[in-house]
Amino acid sequence: MRKDIHPLSPLSVLGIFAHPDDEGFGCGGTLALLASRGARITLVCATNGDVGQVSEARLTGCRTLGQVRQDELRQAAAVLGVQEVRFLNYRDSGMAGSLHNQNLASLHQASPPLAVGKLVSILRELRPGLVLTHDSTGGYGHPDHLAVYRHVTQAVALAADPAAYPEQLAQGLQPWQPPCFYYVAFPRSAFRRMWRQMQAAGITPPFASKDVDSLGCPDAAVTTTVDVRQFVETKAASLNCHRTQIDPNGPFARLPAEQLNELMSTEYFIQACPQGEESSKDLLAGLEPV
Ligand SMILES: [Zn+2]
Repeated sequence: MRKDIHPLSPLSVLGIFAHPDDEGFGCGGTLALLASRGARITLVCATNGDVGQVSEARLTGCRTLGQVRQDELRQAAAVLGVQEVRFLNYRDSGMAGSLHNQNLASLHQASPPLAVGKLVSILRELRPGLVLTHDSTGGYGHPDHLAVYRHVTQAVALAADPAAYPEQLAQGLQPWQPPCFYYVAFPRSAFRRMWRQMQAAGITPPFASKDVDSLGCPDAAVTTTVDVRQFVETKAASLNCHRTQIDPNGPFARLPAEQLNELMSTEYFIQACPQGEESSKDLLAGLEPV
């Protein structure tokens, strides 16, 4: 963020992710840091995580997993200092190749122009100074992560174009070009390091059936790292709000606390804009320390 873009108002941040909990591990520390410096943060969650695994029986009454996960995200967001959470209410598409991909309510089956239009409308309404979303690898290739990457990338490109979705302008919205746009990334070396640590501790790492070199993005793609050591406890407390997703016997729960903290202390980003000479390589620049 350049200082001259928002000289008086606090930085407005818009994070757009596929599922409840995607915000946490990838950039929860950065969101907490931004919030602590006065940023106003909105999270948009494209699906309700309807087909996520339930590791704990928390579906009481007639509440669906999607409703429970919405509540979990609201709680997780509040812990980070996020002011607002919105849902696009698409259905979780499940992992690549699963039957859930075929569900007509799923994000995977959603009409791209419709989904992009919803995001353009939100960009024009909130006029964020910084946009964060999934990178082109989706971390581990989840179809919803990839769809959100494509739709948000297109929406950011179109939001400033008055010829795109002109009906929104007739309704009073104005074109908007977000000055800063970053993808949340998991560099391959970080995946490899995590795998090595887990294997050394006798733990089967996540995505163990995949080739580790197919996970994450090339290290050279990362433009920006943020040290969130100061916010690791907040990040962990926020992640713990996603109770249905926590497996007490899972690889992260079994990793020694020191190593887990280390793993969560750095967050990685790919700067999509501004580029070239305008590139600051620091998504925190322009925020005053408090
Ligand atoms: Zn996800």
